[in-house]
Amino acid sequence: MAEVVSAPGYERWTQQVAGTGGCSAPVRLVGESEVIDRGTGEVVHVYRTADEATGYLLVACGNRRASVCPACSETYRRDVFHLIRAGLAGGKGLAETVREHPRVFATLTAPSFGAVHTLRERNGKPVACHPRRRPVRCEHGNPDGCGVPHTPEDAVLGSPLCGDCYDYVGAVLWQAHAGQLWHRFSLELRRQMARRAGMSRRRFEAQVRVSFAKVAEYQRRGLVHFHAVIRLDGPGGYDDPPPCWATAELLADAVPEAAGRVQVRSLDPGQGDRILRWGTQIDVRPILVSGDGGGLSDQAVAGYIAKYSTKGAEVSGTIDRRLTCPRCKGAGRVDGYGGVGLCKRCGGLGTGLGVDLERLPVSDHARRMIRTCWDLGGLPELADLRLRPWAHMLGFRGHFATKSRRYSTTLGALRQTRADHRAADARERQGLPSPETTEVIGHWRFAGQGYSEAEQLLADHIGQRAQTARRIAAERAEKDTESPSTETAKRNDSEAS
Ligand SMILES: [Zn+2]
Ligand SMILES: [Zn+2]
Ligand SMILES: [Zn+2]
Ligand SMILES: [Zn+2]
Repeated sequence: MAEVVSAPGYERWTQQVAGTGGCSAPVRLVGESEVIDRGTGEVVHVYRTADEATGYLLVACGNRRASVCPACSETYRRDVFHLIRAGLAGGKGLAETVREHPRVFATLTAPSFGAVHTLRERNGKPVACHPRRRPVRCEHGNPDGCGVPHTPEDAVLGSPLCGDCYDYVGAVLWQAHAGQLWHRFSLELRRQMARRAGMSRRRFEAQVRVSFAKVAEYQRRGLVHFHAVIRLDGPGGYDDPPPCWATAELLADAVPEAAGRVQVRSLDPGQGDRILRWGTQIDVRPILVSGDGGGLSDQAVAGYIAKYSTKGAEVSGTIDRRLTCPRCKGAGRVDGYGGVGLCKRCGGLGTGLGVDLERLPVSDHARRMIRTCWDLGGLPELADLRLRPWAHMLGFRGHFATKSRRYSTTLGALRQTRADHRAADARERQGLPSPETTEVIGHWRFAGQGYSEAEQLLADHIGQRAQTARRIAAERAEKDTESPSTETAKRNDSEAS
């Protein structure tokens, strides 16, 4: 550590660390950028990392996930919050009239693939998970009940009462088709609303645009749920009110109907075909402007979606990196001089695994999900599902957070605003001309990522201070956009989580 502190660039290094906002694995860049006058072509400013005392520039990693980089994930969470909230209450370039558009908060779940240990509470106290007066044993000798009142920390939560009875193939196939199921749902939703309004889907779509923003949340049993804001607009999107017959009731009634109707057919190697559907637990709640009475406030909904957007599959006890062999990419076979042969890298057995699955630090349930992904992923008829590359995500290969184009502003626009703001600050400090008359040309190269052990200790300290300063500023900004009934919103948020 003394070496780091006494190095010539230390002072500048601490500035750069603070500039990444406490990122745990910043990227080191080397290169240069030139500011050029558009009119005269004259170079008015040059920045070279070679002139830096450190010899490089540190840039935040920008990872979305809290388990990878807490600081960058917090920036991401805030952006998602503002994006979702703008689509509900206006702001960030959206008119406030968007508040009056019909919208709901819907949750679509996975069906059951066998009984799992669950958290059950009565009056705030944990009660027996699957109470049975006379438990019956399955063919594997496991009881069909569980009298244990589980607590939230219990490691068995989400795992099946009998792993051999549990339908792992069904669970993995469902997860691999979850994105497609959502797509079909979104089409059926329009069809259902059109039917209720007594018109063709084509006529309906000429008058109403359905916008949504959704996030995938892993349950402990390793299957995703989708939480979505669904909003009705006129054909022009968020600035355009829908016709008056397109009400929140029409939307709320159509959601469960559409979810109940859609299905996806999948090949199931053991049994021919399999029909995949949503689970029966479908929740539709109104989103209220004030947050009073029965519904959720826009603030709470935005907070809820933003929170899940920074999570991965870790809650289901899996691991956060690919498990495929780096040489054969999971195929188990490689093209050699003598034609296609078994890959030597993954043991010459053609497993395609880059790790020892039996010794992977994951829960037994996650291991069986992964194993099922692996086995099914090796079948040519299921190749399209890409189950091996996504085995660590237990078969889900969709995006965690998605929104339709006209829902609201974009994450890119929010980031650009921040970057523009920082650039303007820097220009002002250096006395450079405005961006209207100049152009920036940069040449950058990746020179590594992360800190050494000693650097990490110092960086943590600097990062904490930077994060506190940012949090205070951000809380102030979030407060400025809050709806009048913040208390109700907060209450709803804690209920929802
Ligand atoms: Zn980071
Ligand atoms: Zn149990
Ligand atoms: Zn069994
Ligand atoms: Zn291999």
